[in-house]
Order: sequence, then structure tokens, then C-alpha cells
Amino acid sequence: MSDRAVVVLGGGIGGVVAARRLRQRLDPGARVVLVERDPLLRFAPSFLWVMAGWRTPEGVTADLRRLRRRGIELVEAEVEGVDPDGRAVATTAGPLAYDRLVVALGAELDPEALPGFAEHAHSVYTLDGAAAAGRALQGLDEGRVAVVVSSLPYKCPAAPWEAAFLADAVLRRRGVRERCPVDVYTPEPFPMPTAGPELGAELRAMLEGRGIGVHTERSVQSITGDGLLLAGGEQVPAALTIGVPPHRAPRPVRDSSLAGPTGFVPVDPATLATDAEGVSAIGDVTAIPIAGGKMLPKAGVFAEGEADVVARRLADELHGRVPTAEFDGRGSCFVELGGHRAAFATGRFYGGGRPRGADAPAGPALAPGQGGVRAVLAAPLGRVTVGRTGIGDLRGGSPGARPARSGRLPGRSP
Ligand SMILES: Cc1cc2nc3c(=O)[nH]c(=O)nc-3n(C[C@H](O)[C@H](O)[C@H](O)COP(=O)(O)OP(=O)(O)OC[C@H]3O[C@@H](n4cnc5c(N)ncnc54)[C@H](O)[C@@H]3O)c2cc1C
Repeated sequence: MSDRAVVVLGGGIGGVVAARRLRQRLDPGARVVLVERDPLLRFAPSFLWVMAGWRTPEGVTADLRRLRRRGIELVEAEVEGVDPDGRAVATTAGPLAYDRLVVALGAELDPEALPGFAEHAHSVYTLDGAAAAGRALQGLDEGRVAVVVSSLPYKCPAAPWEAAFLADAVLRRRGVRERCPVDVYTPEPFPMPTAGPELGAELRAMLEGRGIGVHTERSVQSITGDGLLLAGGEQVPAALTIGVPPHRAPRPVRDSSLAGPTGFVPVDPATLATDAEGVSAIGDVTAIPIAGGKMLPKAGVFAEGEADVVARRLADELHGRVPTAEFDGRGSCFVELGGHRAAFATGRFYGGGRPRGADAPAGPALAPGQGGVRAVLAAPLGRVTVGRTGIGDLRGGSPGARPARSGRLPGRSP
């Protein structure tokens, strides 16, 4: 197997976990090459904590160049094209041949697709945007905060609702909440539809309990300095608009033979193999149908689980063993409630079945749900634990228990 190259495209959550687990599993003769345009990984699950003032931007940023010490070849370059027939990738650093390819290029943000978003909204989907939203919340004394979901799909189904809870918490702390209504506008039928109507209803009740307006099946057509224009013509005044920009598949993927009808990459749900020989795809760049005509949500917890499965399978394949690892659609999600409390939802998204209610007590009963989504509400943050991401190790320590919201970039915890 010596001199074989496994090339991983994209050094975000999925790509870093895949590269690291491949390096651990492959013999030293095999090369692991990670191609990423930005050597600084900005850990998106912590962006809302930056908005709330609980993390600094530096505290949620890790340097991917440290991976070189672990025997991973980091190529700092833009991926320009993927040619599965020629088993090669075009990059700004030149062409790269591969024996196996893992595509982990994520979902691209496309703020220009919603008129006025780039000019008048703070995107909490970038680190700079989340920090700017935080400053704007600190400076707001009066007027509505509109939280906008531009379009579907978007990554992290919990994020806009968490943004609303945290905006509410910041404004309460500052003593201006009564003068600043907080309203969420989304085209979705209810909050977090992939988690099912029961969880959606509970989340809605919790939002409304905090005085947050939940406006579902509302599409925003444009954003101005004065507020929102909704489909149907209604105008909503807003002093501050924060939100989720439109998403699309990354260009090199959209332009390749790997793309499905939406531009994202169809894969075998269990093996993450694409139709192209030797090519797997993981994370937000994939399109995986699940029960009820829905798609597997785009979330880091799935990117991580998929990366692990692909690393195991490729290691088996390249060492002449029969690959057996399969992804089961299991995932968990924290929903930030403000006040250092969080709801926790967990389930097997390939399992089908009816989502269960959210009245279980917090504490050790946080086992993955069987064939549905189960939520444990109002657990104090820090008590609930999920697995490891491997991301935190980039800063030289353990990522700790929480993969997503804290990310546990060591030395930066509150
Ligand atoms: C505000 C927010 C909160 C979130 N909270 C959670 C949470 O609590 N739990 C959770 O599980 N998930 C959460 N997520 C979602 C999670 O961050 C993503 O689902 C996850 O990062 C997906 O991993 P990925 O590897 O597929 O893509 P990414 O992590 O986005 O990585 C893709 C990488 O590819 C690189 N890239 C793209 N195009 C090119 C190119 N042409 N050339 C070179 N490099 C390229 C990018 O620079 C990027 O580094 C959150 C996201 C946001 C924005």
C-alpha cells in the first residue's frame, strides 16, 4: 500500500476528523493529504457563543498547520475542480492525483442570493458576522431584533432558534428586552422539522415562553436598513437583523459529475460512497434522504460520524480487509436556551419511527434514542456529554466532552 494517497478535500469538521482518523489507521507508507484554502479553522458551533460574548474569536479558531506534525500533508490551496474519471483534483497549488478521495467541502454560504442580506443583516454563520451581531446587540436600546432563515437547506437546524434565545438573554441582561421584541422568520413549518412535530411544538412553546415571536412558513424576500419584506408584501420593521444566509453546494462540486440535482452529492447512506470509483463524500456537502421525504440535517455531529466510518472503511480496503463500518444516522444536538441552559435532542435519523416527547429528566439518561428523536430539556450546560470531535486536539489538548457548542478548544473554556 506504500505511496498510495488518500486525498481529503476540505479541512472543516468532517475533513479534519477524516484526515486524523485515516492517519491513525493507515500504515505510514500511505499518504494522507488534506486540501484546505484557509489554514485557520473557525469552529462554527461556537459562533453563537461569540455573539453572546462568551467566547472570543481567537478562542474558537485553531491552526490546521499543526496537523503536519501528525503526519498529515496539508496543502493550503483552493480546490478548483474534481475529475473522478482522471482520479485527479485541480487546485491552485497544481493537480493532485489520488487513490481514494474524500470530499468534505461543506456547504457554501451565498448571502447575495437574498437581496439586502449582505448589506443589512449580520450573518451568524461567519465568525466575523457573529462577532458583529454581538456588538450590535450590545449597542441596541430599542427596536425589533429579526432573526431570519433565508432559505432551505441550511446547516445546524437549531442555530436560528439558538440565536433568538441568546439574543433574548443578552437583551435581558442589558435590561432593554422590553423595548426590543425578538422575532424569528423562517420558511419552515415549525422549528427543527427533521426532529419531528413534537419536538418542534416544544421548542416553539419554549421560545414563546421567552416572549420570542415564532413566524413559520414566512419567506423573507428582501432586507433593508429598516427591516424585512416578506413574501405576500408584509413589511416588518427591524432595528437589527441577524440570520442564516442562503446556502448552496460548493462550486467545484456543483460543476463536477459528483453533483446531484441540488448540486450536493448523493451518497450511499451507510458507506458514504459516491457513484464515482474511489470517491466518498461526508458532511454538509452530501445529500442523504431520510424518512418522510426529508434530508439528513447538515450538522457537525453527522460530519464527524461519517468521517469516522469512511476512515475505517478506507483503512480496511487499503489493507486488503473487507470494510464493515457503516453509518447509522445517529446524531445529537444541543439547543442553546440562554441562561447557561440547553435542550438536548438525540436520535437515529435513519431509523424512522415516531419522535418522542421531550419531558425526560436531565441527567444520565441521555442514551441515543431508538428510531426517533428524543429530547431532554433544560439540562444545565456542561452536564450533557457526547463524543469527541478530534478538533480540540489541534490546540494541543483534549476536546473534552462537548463536540459542538463549546468545542472545548483547550485553555479557552469559560
Ligand atoms: C452558527 C452555527 C452553529 C452550529 N452549531 C452546530 C452544533 O451545535 N452541532 C453540530 O453538530 N453542528 C453545528 N453546526 C454545523 C456544523 O458547523 C457543520 O455542519 C459542519 O461544520 C460541517 O462539516 P463539514 O466538514 O461538512 O463542512 P465545514 O466544516 O464547513 O468544512 C468545509 C471546509 O471546506 C473548505 N472549502 C470549501 N470549498 C473549498 C475550496 N474550493 N477549496 C478549498 N477548501 C474549500 C472550507 O474552507 C471549510 O474549511 C453549526 C454551524 C453554524 C454555522
